[in-house]
Amino acid sequence: MHELPVTESILTIALRYAEREHATSISDLYLVIGDLSSIVDESVQFYWDIISRDTIAEGATLHFERTPMQMVCFDCGKTYRPEPGTLSCPGCGSTIVQVAGGEDFRLEAITVEKDENTEKANEAAPSVDGVIEET
Ligand SMILES: [Zn+2]
Repeated sequence: MHELPVTESILTIALRYAEREHATSISDLYLVIGDLSSIVDESVQFYWDIISRDTIAEGATLHFERTPMQMVCFDCGKTYRPEPGTLSCPGCGSTIVQVAGGEDFRLEAITVEKDENTEKANEAAPSVDGVIEET
């Protein structure tokens, strides 16, 4: 049940971003979750509904995107998606391999609304400073 601190991190980053952009509300959050991460979408949504209450992020839609597991081979340097049932390298058969992706969890983008003009600021990751550490 570590979704609560993770969800709190998302909210903190989102509110900080919204404040900097002088936004009046946050409408959408785009989250990327690695397949190996133990984060459960429904739990994040559940906590989100509770902790975003009475903030400008209340009612924002959470979008979840899953990224596949990736391995890297130390013998031939190949990056690959393992076949079910084996982790060894499909290129050279080596078993000296390491997980290279699919464990991450990050906030990719936020859509906020501003008052003056209904222009939407939909900015990609660089302005959202958050890789969220799982605890
Ligand atoms: Zn290999």
